[in-house]
Amino acid sequence: MDDKIEKSDDQWRRDLTLEQYSALRQKGTERAFSGEFWDDHEPGRYLCAGCGAELFRSEEKFDSRTGWPSFSRPADARAIASTRDSSHGMERVEVHCRRCGGHLGHVFQDGPPPTGERYCINSASLKKSL
Ligand code: FE
Repeated sequence: MDDKIEKSDDQWRRDLTLEQYSALRQKGTERAFSGEFWDDHEPGRYLCAGCGAELFRSEEKFDSRTGWPSFSRPADARAIASTRDSSHGMERVEVHCRRCGGHLGHVFQDGPPPTGERYCINSASLKKSL
């Protein structure tokens, strides 16, 4: 695994777009059906928009009809870390990039077989690579 990436808040602000900064560094959630990848069906890899780590692949992407890109598993379980999130009156599991700490979204247990998991991810936290 690559080394962790740590930057000052000022540096992140300079390096990211407003949308990326809001999602990755402020745990913002983009509006459903508004992001770049919820309806993306092209093959490829989805990298962290903050640090370029490979997080998800098109093979595990599925149509969740939620308006956010959704995956049944990460490209590599070691690329992603999770924490308990009790904000907004809900009990959820927040997921973030292990390398840079950038917030990605949440994982729910109502996904398709065989994992039963649904990684609900902000498009703004991702960038696509072939
Ligand atoms: Fe990252």
